[in-house]
Amino acid sequence: GRPALRYKRVLLKVSGEVLMGEQAFGIDLKTIDAVAADIAEVVRQGVELCLVIGGGNIFRGLSMAGKGMERASADYMGMLATVMNALAMQSALEKIGIETRVQSAIPMQAVCEPYIRRRAERHLEKGRVVIFAAGTGNPFFTTDTAAALRAAEMGCEALLKGTSVDGVYTADPKKVPDAKRYDRLTYLDVLSQDLKVMDASAISLMRENDIPIVVFSIRRPGAFLDVLTGQGVHTVIG
Ligand code: UDP
Repeated sequence: GRPALRYKRVLLKVSGEVLMGEQAFGIDLKTIDAVAADIAEVVRQGVELCLVIGGGNIFRGLSMAGKGMERASADYMGMLATVMNALAMQSALEKIGIETRVQSAIPMQAVCEPYIRRRAERHLEKGRVVIFAAGTGNPFFTTDTAAALRAAEMGCEALLKGTSVDGVYTADPKKVPDAKRYDRLTYLDVLSQDLKVMDASAISLMRENDIPIVVFSIRRPGAFLDVLTGQGVHTVIG
């Protein structure tokens, strides 16, 4: 059989870019279905799952602000983009029989629940996936920080970052062919070497709360469950 699960409750952060698949923008349904299938596999093992999805595939506040738009308004647009991704993921999960609730940090009654920590707790206990949308609800933050915040609030044992790369490397492996992947790093390694894992506020929050971060490629089918059983390729920060 398969090795035992290392964690009972985790938060999975999926960056918006992953959802684009091979497209240059937006949501690729085939990709979102593939990610949903991997999530379903994990949920069926009894893992309590929190989900945070980025919005970079649709809108990034910072790049719009760079072109002259007011930063706070641009960031609110970015947060709205994460709500769209959350609804797409909810639909993909429910199609394959996984119960989900979307909770938005910006209340949007007709679309989803507002973020209420105790209610989210109940959903998790009942085996529902809770998708936390609209980031932290505040401009000048990122969905990485939102993921760290929710992971701490919900008492998650690990924060899993599902990206298009299978861990943290000494340099960008797409540009530097002999870049090496780290198996383990400390929070301070990441902060002091400015390694591109998550932003510094997210790393600091995980460090203060002693929650490990695991970086892995969500593009490889089955990788999510592998990480939870300590298998496969990934980098652990803790
Ligand atoms: N955003 C924000 N506050 C938050 C989370 C997100 O203002 O708490 C905005 C910000 O403009 C960001 C956009 O939402 O650029 C999309 O999120 P992010 O860039 O973190 O998505 P990802 O890179 O994970 O796809």
